[in-house]
Amino acid sequence: MRPARALIDLDALRHNYRLARGLAGGRALAVVKADAYGHGALRCAAALEPEADGFAVACLEEALALRQAGIGAPILLLEGFFEASELPLIAEHGLWCVIHAPWQVAMLERCTLQRPIQVWLKLDSGMHRVGIDPEGYVQAWHRLQALPQVSDIIKTSHFARADEPGCTRTLEQLDTFTRVTAGLPGQASLCNSAALMAWPQARADWGRPGLMLYGVAPVPPARDATAGLRPVMTLESKVISVRDLAAGEPVGYGARFVAQRPTRVGVVALGYADGYPQSAANGTPVAIDGRPGELIGRVSMDMLTVDLTGHPDAGVGSTVELWGRQVAAADVVTCSQTSSYRLLCGVKRVPLQYHG
Ligand SMILES: *Cc1c(COP(=O)(O)O)cnc(C)c1O
Repeated sequence: MRPARALIDLDALRHNYRLARGLAGGRALAVVKADAYGHGALRCAAALEPEADGFAVACLEEALALRQAGIGAPILLLEGFFEASELPLIAEHGLWCVIHAPWQVAMLERCTLQRPIQVWLKLDSGMHRVGIDPEGYVQAWHRLQALPQVSDIIKTSHFARADEPGCTRTLEQLDTFTRVTAGLPGQASLCNSAALMAWPQARADWGRPGLMLYGVAPVPPARDATAGLRPVMTLESKVISVRDLAAGEPVGYGARFVAQRPTRVGVVALGYADGYPQSAANGTPVAIDGRPGELIGRVSMDMLTVDLTGHPDAGVGSTVELWGRQVAAADVVTCSQTSSYRLLCGVKRVPLQYHG
């Protein structure tokens, strides 16, 4: 069997959820959209269900997969419904539903449901992606409040720049939210991971942590450990071939790496088709049999190459960690000019193996 795999530490996931919930100061929905950021939504949700206040996903399809797997906890649809035919299923499965646009309010008014649904009415407080405009928010709230189809309304919004600690935009958005919703009763939810970690003044009744559950801090690299987060995914494979190169000889496609001195090269069975970034630069950190090492050469579809010169005991069969317990995902992100979100969501083809 091909040795590439992603180990998923469910104990670390639970640890990170508790930490996020503590920062939220109230309750927290574990965001498990996009297959739990590449970690496997069903297994992650099952591991968290005994203690999680609920879950959040991108769409009905993701929510129904969780329900079919036996997850009975509350599930919030972060973009609500896309067409009216979803509403009866939302009611049947007791899902919570974001309402972010006037057309959704109108559709909800026109439908009849077997039981009322909980609505999270989203304000566009300045991200300008989705959400009801400040001018129309109070009216939309009252229209929903009047409907027998709606059980209760949570006030919500989303920050655009919470991962920039020095940026005043988050406080401006918070002010807008506070001003617009001031006269309306009910609970509120504002914070994603970055806001939970960097903007305690934005705490509300419900946090919505995603990335940090998986052990990666959204705010600058190398803060994962200081934040107390534990990596959940360890992506690893093994060395399947070794070459000794003389100075001046190249490795791999495009000869991106040329040996400056006699170099021992290890070929690892994992590539960009598994989600490892093809943009990873020479020198991107890896761990070889538990010791720090470096990527060299351009990443191929199914293989990548590492420098074994300083690792005389390593050879065919050695374990190479690409990120996880020993190599911070944030450092791979920095060397690859990608984002932590893309790095984790991009993992595919490799089997996910759960423990903890
Ligand atoms: C994805 C998402 C989150 C989680 O964001 P992280 O940055 O991963 O913590 C929270 N709220 C909304 C509306 C989202 O779409």
